[in-house]
Amino acid sequence: MKTDIVIIGAGPAGIFTALELIRKGSRQKITMIEKGKAIEKRKCPKSTTQKCVSCKPYCHITTGFSGAGAFSDGKLSLSYEVGGDLPSLIGEDIAQRTINYTDRIYLEFGADTHIEGLGNTQEVKEIRKRAIQAGLKLVDCPIRHLGTEKAQEIYYSIEQYLLENGVEILFGCNCKNLVIENQVCKGVHVELDGKDDVIYAQSVIAATGRRGADWLEKLCSEHGIDHYPGTVDIGVRVEVRNEIMEQVNSVLYESKLIGYPLPFKNKVRTFCQNPGGFVSQENYDNDLAVVNGHSYKNLKSGNTNLAILCSHNFSHPFNQPIAYAQKVGELTNMLGAGKILVQRFGDILEGKRTWADELSRSNLRPTLPDAVAGDITSAIPYRTMINIINFIQAVDHVVPGFASIETLLYSPELKFYSNRIKMDKDFNTSVKGLYCLGDSSGWTRGLMMASIMGVLMGRKLAEAELGIKIEEDPDISSEVPVNENNFCF
Ligand SMILES: Cc1cc2nc3c(=O)[nH]c(=O)nc-3n(C[C@H](O)[C@H](O)[C@H](O)COP(=O)(O)OP(=O)(O)OC[C@H]3O[C@@H](n4cnc5c(N)ncnc54)[C@H](O)[C@@H]3O)c2cc1C
Repeated sequence: MKTDIVIIGAGPAGIFTALELIRKGSRQKITMIEKGKAIEKRKCPKSTTQKCVSCKPYCHITTGFSGAGAFSDGKLSLSYEVGGDLPSLIGEDIAQRTINYTDRIYLEFGADTHIEGLGNTQEVKEIRKRAIQAGLKLVDCPIRHLGTEKAQEIYYSIEQYLLENGVEILFGCNCKNLVIENQVCKGVHVELDGKDDVIYAQSVIAATGRRGADWLEKLCSEHGIDHYPGTVDIGVRVEVRNEIMEQVNSVLYESKLIGYPLPFKNKVRTFCQNPGGFVSQENYDNDLAVVNGHSYKNLKSGNTNLAILCSHNFSHPFNQPIAYAQKVGELTNMLGAGKILVQRFGDILEGKRTWADELSRSNLRPTLPDAVAGDITSAIPYRTMINIINFIQAVDHVVPGFASIETLLYSPELKFYSNRIKMDKDFNTSVKGLYCLGDSSGWTRGLMMASIMGVLMGRKLAEAELGIKIEEDPDISSEVPVNENNFCF
């Protein structure tokens, strides 16, 4: 089989590559291969079974059209400061302008026009003042919140648009390997309907997401694709009652706090805050159960959850961050008999495990009912645990009550970013014709950043095909107001 452009993975990075190619008038044949299903056929059985049944061969939450974005909370971060290190590769200005452009596309496909985290300047100042006193940095980032249900509608409209515009999308198609000869990528080996096949193409775009990071890492070693060992984030998902987070939720919606707590001074940060949200479980293909969180646009819980993450880097003699985090996850899963572990913060400080009946004595009811009460400190490495405890105590200064006895810590919360693929600002890798985008490339960590990487990729391919330089809309930079600190309000 032959095509012009093959895109592996129909997550935001892959989708926006195809979308931008079409919008810029490309006539090339685009084939997307996606091991999961079309968005309208994706269904997590948990809605009927009430518990995760570890779907095989893949998890419906993270696999299928729109990738990990479909069932995600759909929080689009509208500042270049959030969502990955892509701005350091392409430049902060281009990143912000492309965010503004991409945000408009989301609006065209039906995203809510309301932006969270704008205005409230005096209250933001007060929150920042408390953050400074606690030794934390507050990064304020406007958020367009799609909500889990709305995100699915928007991505469905995009899927239909791509199909109507001639993009071939092969669902249930698993990319097994790349065809690379003399450092030139010529296509992909796939398995479709139980049969092996080869798809030849001039441009191959690997956009396989966080779940495909492991797979891409193997291909990097096999084919000598230049890369650096990446970062892995290990942490916990914290849940408190909405009353505790009320001010931050209403003023900022999402508070991005960064600290370097003593004694290790490692970077620790908050991530993915879900006011009125739900803690959830995801299962990786190797049966690893990890915790996550999301919130719906209309269905609200009485709790807020957010992740606290510590970045881990390795160099010599060990440089396999994914393997390290997997071991931490496996150990935690073992202690929870395959389920997510949950422990009260007060019990951690007292040096004891949490018992199920102790959970029911709190004001706070876990929104992940199948999490098992236990002892996360028996599995989380000492350094990481101390970082988390000290960071939570610092956040308590910004959000009084955050470090309460009943505050819940769920584990394992793992974010695999893996290898960072070596590339120039046009995304050329060490293998001609091969491009790596989105979370699997190690350069992005969120919906918007993965989407803009796709947009820029699509533009680059369209420019090469049409032999023109594509100019951006002149008014694109005025979309999100920026204050004198370059933080967006
Ligand atoms: C529960 C949850 C909530 C989240 N909430 C948010 C949020 O609110 N805001 C935010 O910014 N980010 C959020 N994220 C992260 C966000 O979803 C990702 O950063 C984003 O989807 C990355 O896009 P991507 O295109 O790089 O990869 P993905 O979205 O992961 O897509 C990759 C696709 O590639 C496919 N694939 C992988 N390997 C192969 C293969 N070998 N062959 C064929 N297909 C393959 C996968 O099936 C998948 O569909 C959330 C993630 C999860 C899991």
